[in-house]
Amino acid sequence: MSYFIMDDYDVIVIGAGHAGCEAALASARMGHKTLVFSINLEAVAMMPCNPSIGGTGKGHLVREIDALGGEMGINIDKTFIQSKMLNTAKGPAVHSLRAQADKNLYHIEMKKTLENQENLHLKQGEVVDIIVEDGKVCGVITKTNAAYRAKAVVIATGTFLRGKIFIGEAAFESGPNGLAPARDLSSNLKKHGIELRRFKTGTPCRALSKSLDYSKMIEQKGDEKIVPFSFMNDDLKKDQISCWLSYTTQETHTVIRNNFSRSALFGGQIEGVGPRYCPSIEDKINRFSDKERHQLFVEPEGLDTDEMYIQGMSSSLPEDVQRDFYKTIPGLENIEISRPAYAIEYDCIDPLMIKLSLESRQIENLFCAGQFNGSSGYEEAAAQGLIAGINAALKISGKEPMVLKRDEAYIGVLIDDLVTKGTPEPYRIMTSRAEYRLLLRQDNADIRLTDKSYHIGLASEERYRRFLAKKEHIEKERQRLEETFLMPLDIKEFLESHESTPVQNKVSLAELLKRPELTYEMLAEIDPVRPHLTSHEITNLEVQIKYEGYITKQLQQVEKFKKLENKHLDENLDYSAIDGLRIEAMQKLSKFKPASVGQASRISGVSPADINVLIVYLEKQRRMRDNSNRNN
Ligand SMILES: Cc1cc2nc3c(=O)[nH]c(=O)nc-3n(C[C@H](O)[C@H](O)[C@H](O)COP(=O)(O)OP(=O)(O)OC[C@H]3O[C@@H](n4cnc5c(N)ncnc54)[C@H](O)[C@@H]3O)c2cc1C
Repeated sequence: MSYFIMDDYDVIVIGAGHAGCEAALASARMGHKTLVFSINLEAVAMMPCNPSIGGTGKGHLVREIDALGGEMGINIDKTFIQSKMLNTAKGPAVHSLRAQADKNLYHIEMKKTLENQENLHLKQGEVVDIIVEDGKVCGVITKTNAAYRAKAVVIATGTFLRGKIFIGEAAFESGPNGLAPARDLSSNLKKHGIELRRFKTGTPCRALSKSLDYSKMIEQKGDEKIVPFSFMNDDLKKDQISCWLSYTTQETHTVIRNNFSRSALFGGQIEGVGPRYCPSIEDKINRFSDKERHQLFVEPEGLDTDEMYIQGMSSSLPEDVQRDFYKTIPGLENIEISRPAYAIEYDCIDPLMIKLSLESRQIENLFCAGQFNGSSGYEEAAAQGLIAGINAALKISGKEPMVLKRDEAYIGVLIDDLVTKGTPEPYRIMTSRAEYRLLLRQDNADIRLTDKSYHIGLASEERYRRFLAKKEHIEKERQRLEETFLMPLDIKEFLESHESTPVQNKVSLAELLKRPELTYEMLAEIDPVRPHLTSHEITNLEVQIKYEGYITKQLQQVEKFKKLENKHLDENLDYSAIDGLRIEAMQKLSKFKPASVGQASRISGVSPADINVLIVYLEKQRRMRDNSNRNN
């Protein structure tokens, strides 16, 4: 195929979804000439499914993206229409922020940010092939036969690669939301030796609000006190709009059961594997047949539209069945469906074929991110996009990649799970996936990550200044609370008013704050002269003091974890030469070339016994090296 050279870039990003936007902004902000493609510019940061950002585990990712200098947190703070902190009845490790977004506004704001970003060029066009020379990627070719050369390329194609929509018996090529799919890139990637597989996901119908009866639903309001996602924002004030809770009925279940055979899912048309944690309603009724009812949330899609999203009710049943089962739900009896529910199948890579830096194991300087890597969710995609963009920029500057560890960030857990353990279905982050979740809280993401991002040239001066100020304010205030003592009589009334046990001896403010029934705000009654702290600072300070014991214990566990994590493995290590390794382990280690003994221990098929053999072998090698150095 003949093509003409259009232009040269440092980094090219294929896709301007949640992953592509973060990748492109990171590379451009690190000073590299960057080009980002989208088949349709209306798909920039499009939310083809739920109109929300955050939630359990996902809220943590957004905070980490923000702490690293990414855009998602700032963009949702600009465009949210409702905000809620989830799991507040549980410990701080699982407190998770979730914000309803105005989808259209979210797209518009992110597109503006890309358009105004220095070093960044945004183009509408479909990439049909990558250019590979001597095992290294060096550009892309578009449908119009235009070639763009680059030192690195990021693939972030989401659910578009050979996209296929299923609605009952109907099946047709399409991207999400009726947008054009990417038809040609898949077959060309295969020609370059990249194996692809089929995954699927689904979405519920959209309905016109005027056709719904909210008197039969339970209103879900946002929080009065709005907590910002971005550490660049202290306090946010905004009128919020509500979501609504309803439930399926036995009649809903009957209509769906009677039509299982017409579901694309059960009819066998769909070959792609779907997400276990976002099942379709027919899948839920089939798997949890004993359940009386399933909850659903009716969520606004935005301020300038009457469309509502019916969360929890995705389906690939035919339209007539959809009409019939939605009508059985309290409040939806007169539903007017503006967009039918559907399932979409698409091509994605097996993440075992990429490294912890998100670089392909087969083609040098080719990075992969988002749904293309087998994950599901805007937040998971954005997190990977950010790391892929950062590492593409670092790689072409000859610098070491940024690899976040499992004890440093949920992003580290996400990427390590994908590239080390792999995933048989679309992978969704959850707090239960993190071993050290008390250390990986939302409130300390900047303390954990901003310094790293500043020193690779991404986090801005303003962000770094805020981070340093926050750290200093918290440390100073913690010291002041630990060194400020009060006498029993002076606080007797205060403790009684908060039903807190009286004290016999003088006590520090920090000791009082350890009490679950007392908060930093309450202590102001007996500690009037205090510095002003932001809500971000207060949250972090309180957790540090109240959970000090648990945090210390978890830090000790991390020390053990680091022992194996810091035992690096050479990429050229010949595992067939290690006596005592089982064949399966030898084959797996040779194929995946883990970066450390810690990563090796998480590869399925590598047993603890194999790890011991490996450690003994490494120790012997080390001694032999030391001996030969001493003899030289
Ligand atoms: C129907 C549906 C239901 C979903 N349901 C859920 C759910 O229930 N829960 C959940 O967590 N997530 C769900 N998602 C997933 C969520 O939308 C994605 O995780 C997220 O959008 C992935 O972001 P991404 O950046 O990887 O890809 P996308 O947001 O899909 O963006 C891909 C971008 O790549 C561009 N592109 C693709 N191919 C090319 C090409 N060849 N050339 C140029 N540009 C190209 C597109 O134009 C687009 O800009 C659903 C998605 C869909 C479509």
